[in-house]
Amino acid sequence: MDPIITAPPEESKPSWTNLLKCRCPRCRRGQMFTYANPYNLRTFMKMNETCPVCGQLFDIEPGFYYGTSFISYAFAVMLSVASFVAWWLFLGFSLHDNRVFFWMIANAFLLVAAQPPLMRLARTVWLAFFVRYDPHWRTQPPPEAERFNPDQKNAW
Ligand SMILES: [Zn+2]
Repeated sequence: MDPIITAPPEESKPSWTNLLKCRCPRCRRGQMFTYANPYNLRTFMKMNETCPVCGQLFDIEPGFYYGTSFISYAFAVMLSVASFVAWWLFLGFSLHDNRVFFWMIANAFLLVAAQPPLMRLARTVWLAFFVRYDPHWRTQPPPEAERFNPDQKNAW
């Protein structure tokens, strides 16, 4: 029989693009963040303690999310390069006017406006470096977090 038809659809491996939607890297289904709206600045970084679908711990060791600064830095550089190229193609740069400074100002606003979703994405990507997709997430419990310390929660 065709395995595609016999496999129950909920066991199929979700696409890695689910990480762009800030889903848990272990099951690629559960939401990492408690609230959907990244622009509610009071709550946008509030994370679920564990994955609501597979139970994966999200804060796996004290200060774990310090490492996201490398990822968000890379995202900021990529976004700046993209906006530079777009500006160059559509508006152009010249040595005889101030267009390059207008781009810098516009890019600064763009970077600030893009921060909330980029900060969330940086955490998701950072966690995905350490937590891989587990095809047996439904039947196997998530690995014990040896370095988890409840007293040091949210310590970053
Ligand atoms: Zn999960």
